[in-house]
Amino acid sequence: MQKLTFIEKIKLLEKLYTQFEEEVKEFKKNAVCHKGCADCCKQMARIDLTTLEALRIKEKIETFDESTKLWIKKRLKKDLKKRKKKNYANCPFLTKEDTCLIYEVRPFSCRWIYSLKKCKGNPPLIHSCVFEMAKETIRKIKQLDNNGYSGHISFILQLLDQTEFRESYLLGKPNKIKSFLPYILPNKNK
Ligand code: SF4
Repeated sequence: MQKLTFIEKIKLLEKLYTQFEEEVKEFKKNAVCHKGCADCCKQMARIDLTTLEALRIKEKIETFDESTKLWIKKRLKKDLKKRKKKNYANCPFLTKEDTCLIYEVRPFSCRWIYSLKKCKGNPPLIHSCVFEMAKETIRKIKQLDNNGYSGHISFILQLLDQTEFRESYLLGKPNKIKSFLPYILPNKNK
C-alpha cells in the first residue's frame, strides 16, 4: 500500500464504516437495538479496535472539558486493572444513562453488532453473512493500520499515551511493544 497520511487513513476508515453500513442496511431492518440498550457495552463484551480507530477517539477526547477527560482517564485505568485480573467490566465510555460518550467515533466492533432479538445477557442474534462481511471489513481496517495494533479499547488507548510508541506510530514506523501483550496484537498486513 502506498504511504498514506493519517488524515487519509482516517478518511478511508470512515469510508469503510459507511460502506459496511450500506451493505448491511437491509439485514439490520429488523434489529431490536435502540438507544439506551447497552447489553453489548457491558461486562463480558470485547471491545476491540485498531490504533487508527483509537487515534480518532483520542482526537474526540481532546474536545471534551477537563473534568470529562479526567473521568475517562480514571475509567480507562480502572478497566485496564480489572481486565488484567480477568474481572470484566462495562466499557469505560458507557455513561450512567447507558449511552455512549464517544458514539460518533465508536470503533467498528461497536458498529457492526446488532441483534434480531433482545439479548437479556445472552449473545446477540446476527445473520451469519453479516458476521462474514464484518470479518472482511475488520481485515481491511487492520490492513489500513498496518504499522499499528489491535486489542481491547483500554489497552490500545493507553498504548497511544506512551510517547515513544505514539511518536514512532505517527511516523509510520513498525512498532515493537513488550507490555500489555497478550491483550494486543500487531495488525499484520494479510
Ligand atoms: S465505545 Fe460506546 S458503543 Fe462501544 S462499547 Fe463503549 S459505550 Fe458501547
